[in-house]
Amino acid sequence: MEIVKQAHRVGNMVSTAYVLVDDKTGVTIIDTGPGHFGRKILEYLKTIGRSPADVSRIILTHRHFDHIGGAAELRSATRAKVYAHPLDAPQITGAEPMQWPKGAIGAAMKVMGPILFPFAPCPVDEYLADGMEIDLGSLGVLQTTLTPGHTIGHCSFYLPSRNMLIAGDALNNASGTPSVPMDAVNDDTHMAHETVLVIAQKFSGAETLVFGHGAPIIGSGAQALQKSAALSTAALQKTKSK
Ligand SMILES: [Zn+2]
Ligand SMILES: [Zn+2]
Repeated sequence: MEIVKQAHRVGNMVSTAYVLVDDKTGVTIIDTGPGHFGRKILEYLKTIGRSPADVSRIILTHRHFDHIGGAAELRSATRAKVYAHPLDAPQITGAEPMQWPKGAIGAAMKVMGPILFPFAPCPVDEYLADGMEIDLGSLGVLQTTLTPGHTIGHCSFYLPSRNMLIAGDALNNASGTPSVPMDAVNDDTHMAHETVLVIAQKFSGAETLVFGHGAPIIGSGAQALQKSAALSTAALQKTKSK
């Protein structure tokens, strides 16, 4: 589905990818879902008249299995370059083992995860960095912001031409209010809350917000970010008073 002009969302309940389309610089895919979700992305591209050869970049917001599963398959189908932050890259390339959530959820996922969501290691061709701008031709630049906490190398992306923030898992909108994901899936929940405050300030005028999980917010992004900041402020105060 096209969210704003030339920016599409491919998703279901579990996984989401974003497809940014420019005729000159090619198609940019942000996140690739789990397992064989890459095939779904390729099928979607067909419906908008694009072929694998049109894809020039695959950008990964972070290293979790539900965002990078399709990366290796897509990279070989498209010959696109894969971008990720160096702090998250070792688990994408297979240099370090995949890290599953903490606690009971993690113990179950460690067993079931690789069966349900097979994951092939994927080379990282370009390193993302805070402040890095990627030229998307008619879509203008895509600005990279390091948004650590959910994972230490998590990046979110802002597209000024569409006033759209691609939050990844820095914010989860499954509940209808964008907020920090549950503690079991975060590297550092305290840091994730601090990052939300930075996001809410830096992108206070954003109209459209899209997420790794949950429905997009179109038009009322600024108000939603205020709510997110209030939730994170309350959470930080709670940990302080403990
Ligand atoms: Zn994640
Ligand atoms: Zn996720």
